[in-house]
Amino acid sequence: MLRPGTVRGPGAVSRCARSRVKGRRPGVACVRALVRPLLAWFRRNARVLPWRRTRDPYAIWISEIMLQQTRVQTVIPYWQRWMRELPGVQSLARARLGTVLKLWEGLGYYTRARNLHQAARIIVEKHRGRFPERFDDLLALPGIGRYTAGAICSIAFHQPTPALDGNGVRVLTRIFGMAGNPREKNTKAELWNLAQELAHAAANPRRDGEGNCSLLNQALIELGAVICAPRRPKCPLCPVRKHCAALRENRTDQIPNLGKRTASTERRFAAFVVESKGRFLVRQRPRGVINARLWAFPNVELDGRRAEASQRAEGLLGSRPLASHPLAELRNPIPRYRITMEVFRAEFADGAVKAPAPNRWCSPAQLQTLAFPSAHRKILEALRSPSHEQKFKSVTWKLRPLGVGDAGRVAAGCSGDTRR
Ligand code: SF4
Repeated sequence: MLRPGTVRGPGAVSRCARSRVKGRRPGVACVRALVRPLLAWFRRNARVLPWRRTRDPYAIWISEIMLQQTRVQTVIPYWQRWMRELPGVQSLARARLGTVLKLWEGLGYYTRARNLHQAARIIVEKHRGRFPERFDDLLALPGIGRYTAGAICSIAFHQPTPALDGNGVRVLTRIFGMAGNPREKNTKAELWNLAQELAHAAANPRRDGEGNCSLLNQALIELGAVICAPRRPKCPLCPVRKHCAALRENRTDQIPNLGKRTASTERRFAAFVVESKGRFLVRQRPRGVINARLWAFPNVELDGRRAEASQRAEGLLGSRPLASHPLAELRNPIPRYRITMEVFRAEFADGAVKAPAPNRWCSPAQLQTLAFPSAHRKILEALRSPSHEQKFKSVTWKLRPLGVGDAGRVAAGCSGDTRR
């Protein structure tokens, strides 16, 4: 492995990177030059992760789906619990959707969990419970795209299939100095061709006998995750730095060229905690919407008009509350949206709120068995713990208890509200 501090100067750039600079597509020989250092680096530096101790395609599939959009450290306990509760495709196919969603609770992007469940049932029905080994069969399953199918085929079955995720894209665009946006068709196709060449080169070594497509794909992903970071990549530690056009040309901050970010939209919600005789009102979200089939406290997205909390509650629950008290404010800035949810405790006269399905009155113990989206799980936790702000400081949804000055009025919609 090359050691830190031995970065070579511009003159030492490889033939491979130079051909990219001149606008020529790198040949197989160039790609081949990456294989050996990547494999050597990965063998010495791979993080110890529980799903790396197995070649069980089911276990690898679960890890790959969980890792989409989610950090490794977050995934580890989820994956371990999932594998304890649903250790194989048969047990996943037999499980109730509610159980699957509960195991996924907090990971977000719940379509992933629903697709896993559906795909397991297809594997049992169509493939007699045997995990498919063919790339095309995997690609036909819900929730499995080109990357995931490639990862499963290469890692579990040692097939020379490429697996190019966002980390791999970053590494390859930088090594080959690719100026195009990797989300655009031509650049994307070129990247997948490079990844395919890498996979074949790794699977068919010429001299050193180090062929291993599984490790090569994992090395590319790992390098992007721990060394070739989006900002300030640790180039002195990189095993392929002498091949890297972006480093040589001092363009690591310009590559990959992801284009302009679309401006995020502000969205505001009001949610209501309604309690009656020690039970709380929750409702199951319908099919076909975000977070479908999960449970939530009654809530409404706010439009631009100001309204009293009690008016909002009346519109939502069909009855005007006797009182409403601010409980907390949740904020979650994600790339597309800046979401704020104001949470109120609403008090009603006995029997004023009817709760036909999909509403349900639940005891605190029953609430614990249901799967909630993260924001609503936080509301539950806020109800249980008065010191919730400190406790949940590090998680995505930021929670702020509301004070007396916030009482009664729900914020205006997306514009003109300068309260905060
Ligand atoms: S040299 Fe730097 S920019 Fe190039 S691949 Fe390695 S870490 Fe990424």
